[in-house]
Amino acid sequence: MSKILIVGGGAAGMMAAVMAAENGRALGAEVHVFEKNEKLGKKIYITGKGRCNVTNACEGVEELIASVVSNPKFLYSAFYGFTNRQVMEFFEDCGVSLKVERGNRVFPVSDHSSDIIRGLERRMKKAQVLIHLHSEVKQVLIKEGQVMGIQLADGAVIEGECVVVATGGLSYPSTGSTGDGYRFARETGHRVTELVPSLVPLLAQEEYIHQLQGLSLRNVEFSVCDGKKCLYREFGEMMFTHFGVTGPIVLSASSRVGKLLQTRNLTGRVDLKPALSREQLDQRILREFENSKNRQFKNVIGALYPSSLTPVIIQLSGVDSEKPIHDITREEREKIIDLTKAFPMTLTGMGEFKEAIITKGGVSVRDVDPSTMESKKVPGLYFAGEVLDLDAVTGGYNLQVAWSTGWLAATSALERLRIITEQERTLCQ
Ligand SMILES: Cc1cc2nc3c(=O)[nH]c(=O)nc-3n(C[C@H](O)[C@H](O)[C@H](O)COP(=O)(O)OP(=O)(O)OC[C@H]3O[C@@H](n4cnc5c(N)ncnc54)[C@H](O)[C@@H]3O)c2cc1C
Repeated sequence: MSKILIVGGGAAGMMAAVMAAENGRALGAEVHVFEKNEKLGKKIYITGKGRCNVTNACEGVEELIASVVSNPKFLYSAFYGFTNRQVMEFFEDCGVSLKVERGNRVFPVSDHSSDIIRGLERRMKKAQVLIHLHSEVKQVLIKEGQVMGIQLADGAVIEGECVVVATGGLSYPSTGSTGDGYRFARETGHRVTELVPSLVPLLAQEEYIHQLQGLSLRNVEFSVCDGKKCLYREFGEMMFTHFGVTGPIVLSASSRVGKLLQTRNLTGRVDLKPALSREQLDQRILREFENSKNRQFKNVIGALYPSSLTPVIIQLSGVDSEKPIHDITREEREKIIDLTKAFPMTLTGMGEFKEAIITKGGVSVRDVDPSTMESKKVPGLYFAGEVLDLDAVTGGYNLQVAWSTGWLAATSALERLRIITEQERTLCQ
C-alpha cells in the first residue's frame, strides 16, 4: 500500500493530512501523521489570543500575496490552489461557523481556537488518517536519491513514497516547534536561510519607555527610521512594556525592520495625534491654554494625553511643570508639538523566539518547487508551513500560508502516488 507520511500535526500537517486522505481513497493511499506532542495543534490553540485568526477575508489572492513579507511570489500556486475563501468554506464544512472582524480577520464564531483543532480532527478521523501522537521523527530516510520513509526517535522505521515535512519554525518552542525540520532539510541537502524571530516585540533603550509599562494606545501611528530614512509607518494599536513596545503595529514593524535591528539601533516614533496636522494640533493646544491661562502647565497639558504619559511628556519637553500657562513660549509649544507628533524612542533589538509569532527564514524556496512544494533535490520530499522561508504580517495570513502550502503538498504527493501506481501497473502488464 502506498503511504504519505506527514511529519508534524500542526496547521500545515493537519490540512495536508485531511486533503491527502480525503482525495487519496481511490489510490488506496494510507496517510499517517507523526506528532511529537501528546496532542495535535498545540500552536493553533494559542493563536489569536486563543481565538485563532484562521485566515483573512481580503478580496483576492493578490491581497494575500501582498501581505507576505518574505518570498511572496513563491506562494502563487499555493494561494490560487487553496484560497482564503476555500479555507473559510473548509472550516464551515467542518462544522465551525466563522465571523469576520475588523481588518477582515476571520475567527470562529465561538471565539475558541479549540473548535478549529476539533474541526480538523473530525475530518481526519472521518478520512481515516492514522494519527501517531508522542511520535518524534528523528530522520528523513533517503534511498537512491528518493525519499523512502522516516525514522522515529525510538528507532522504528516507517517506509513511505512521500514525506511531508510540516514541523513549523522556532517560535514558541514550548508548542513543539523546535526547528527539527531545518535539520531534516540540511541533512537531505537543502539550504536553510538565516533564522530570525519575527512578529515580535521591540526593545527600547530609554528608561521613560519602560516606565510607561502597561500603557496601551489606540489610533496612533508608529514609525521606524534609520537616520532620515523612514523604513516603516503604520496606524493602529500598540503597548508599552517593561522592556520596550509591542502590539499589532509594533509586531508588524518587527517583520520589516528586524534584520536591520540586529546590526544597528533604529529610531522609533509615535504620532500620538495622527489625525491632526501640526497646525491643527497647535490650535488645539492654544484652545486648551486659552481656557486656563493662570493654571500651571502640569495641570493643563494632561487633557491631551493618557494620564501615565503626561509626566513623561512634561519631563521630555523641558518645560517647568509649575509654569503658568500664560508664560509658555511659542518654542515651548513647538517642543510639545514635536513630542506629540513624534514621541521618540531608540530601538535596540527584538524579543526572542520564545515570544515571536513567526520565524523569518527557513528552508530556502530556491530548493522547493513552488507549483508542488516538492523538494528540487529529493523526489517525494515535500515541505509545508512555517518551516519554509515564508512569513507574513499579522491578520490571519500566516495560517493561510500553512493551510495553502499543506493543501498543495498533499495534492502533489497524491499526484506522485498516482504516477507511481500507474508505472507499477504498466510494468505488471
Ligand atoms: C502566539 C501566537 C499567535 C499566533 N496567532 C496567529 C493567528 O491568529 N493567525 C495566524 O495566521 N497565525 C498566527 N500565528 C502563526 C501560526 O500559528 C503559524 O504560522 C502556524 O501555526 C504554522 O503552522 P505549521 O503547521 O507550519 O507549524 P506548527 O503549527 O508550529 O506545527 C508544527 C508541528 O510539528 C510538530 N513537530 C515538530 N518537530 C517534530 C518532529 N521531529 N516530529 C514530530 N512532530 C514534530 C510540532 O510539535 C508541531 O505540532 C501565531 C503564532 C503564535 C506563536
